[in-house]
Amino acid sequence: MLRALFLSSALAAAGFGLTMSCAGPLGGPPQSTEAAAQAPPAPIAPLTFASSGDPAFDAWRADFAQRALAAGRQRAVVFSLLGGLTPDPRIITLDQNQAEFVRPVWDYIDRAVSARRIEDGRERIAALRAVFEAVQARFGVDYSVIAGIWAIETNFGAAALPHSAPRAIATLAAEGRRRETFERYMLSLIEMVEKGFAGPQEMASSWAGAMGQPQFMPDVYLQLAVDFDGDGRRDIWSNPGDIFASVANYLSAKGWVRDQPVFDEVRLPAGFDYALADGVQRPIEAWRQLGVQTVTGAALPIAVGIAQLYLPAGHQGPALLLYPNFGAIRAYNPSDRYALAVALLARGFKGEAGLRAPWPREIGALDRAQTLQLQEGLTALGYPTGGVDGMFGANTRRAVRAYQQAKALPADGYPTPALLARVTAESRGETAQGLAVDTHGASTLLMPDGLRQLQRAFNRAGYAAGAADGRIGPATRTAVRRLERRLGLPETGRPTDFILAEALKLPQAPPPPRRAPPKRKKRR
Ligand code: CA
Repeated sequence: MLRALFLSSALAAAGFGLTMSCAGPLGGPPQSTEAAAQAPPAPIAPLTFASSGDPAFDAWRADFAQRALAAGRQRAVVFSLLGGLTPDPRIITLDQNQAEFVRPVWDYIDRAVSARRIEDGRERIAALRAVFEAVQARFGVDYSVIAGIWAIETNFGAAALPHSAPRAIATLAAEGRRRETFERYMLSLIEMVEKGFAGPQEMASSWAGAMGQPQFMPDVYLQLAVDFDGDGRRDIWSNPGDIFASVANYLSAKGWVRDQPVFDEVRLPAGFDYALADGVQRPIEAWRQLGVQTVTGAALPIAVGIAQLYLPAGHQGPALLLYPNFGAIRAYNPSDRYALAVALLARGFKGEAGLRAPWPREIGALDRAQTLQLQEGLTALGYPTGGVDGMFGANTRRAVRAYQQAKALPADGYPTPALLARVTAESRGETAQGLAVDTHGASTLLMPDGLRQLQRAFNRAGYAAGAADGRIGPATRTAVRRLERRLGLPETGRPTDFILAEALKLPQAPPPPRRAPPKRKKRR
């Protein structure tokens, strides 16, 4: 449920005179002690709050409330939102322990676009079809896409929203790491109540303050939430029309174009330059001339204008042409896989098929620690990743692509564990040796047959591994260490399949009368 925090100003037009009297709270009962203070003298009388038990929170709240009043916010509303709040330590914990692991794209899509969720969505759309159709008619946004966002954000509204936005946002503002951002959200909440869009008691949210079934942050709510049924409230918590229209209005504001597709799965011709999957929008006609075709055989939608090529799992996986409407979905949550999941759900809700190309699950994917290591390696090798943070973004993808091009690899920008091993070894100046360390460390111990083969190979090369008996004795271990030394590897004495492969490459020793003086044979 974690969402990017939308950064737009809700402060800009305060527009309230400092002496303007409060028109009465819209979301909660007025406080009698406060009512007495509502004919303000020239210096603004501070609001007094009961202690939360946390002096730092209390200090922030008193200071923030004073600034909100000075900015013209209504006294009773400020009190109704901030009075009685206590900081929630669970939210600080959640904020500081955000999930670090990254699932491969196919795992993410498998979970987000399950058959069960598609079935669930079809039922919910059928039950609310009239509302969906009315919203689609007004905003021109496909309701299947709206339902896809609804599905991922809050599982069609079924997900629990156990927090309240005022408490969550006040907690994070007081904590202070991103105080400015969360204070701006707090001011948006105040404005929401002042305008009568929602009451302080209704603002159920995620721990990060994302509200209601579409998970809007307060500034987005102020700008883009919609009162579709015309009752004066923008009820994104329980009113289906307001919920769907708010999502539609968001997509519309982010560039959704009526009656255009979101993406097409495509087939790339042999010899295609995968480096063109670089996030750059090119005319669809240009893609056509490069030999790109839809997997269905349908013509590319030239009239849509531009598209970018997306290889979510590199050149061995599905290839997609993304149209501008994909970008509108991506604005909702800046992640390609999020937008792909929404688009695939939308297809499923319409009874259309998913992707045809299978995911290349065997190539693996990097977790966050590995991504960080890749960034360090690429940066050290002169392929800057725009920071070393463990997040695989556009800059890191560009660096991967540049590295792949320099090494004459398919330049799809997709990072695999194999690529990481190569970059790491090279960045440590180990080249072949570094790769060998990696390969040796990961390779398996030999079984007796392999050991016999290894012992024979050692003996042919003059490494004196003793009898080829398939058992690991001191002579065999010594031979392994000698080969490891020769290869510049740490000496482990582990007879692995990697060691066998290297032993088979050893030159054969000439018959060595000098190095192996004939021993006296034991007489029987
Ligand atoms: Ca409404």
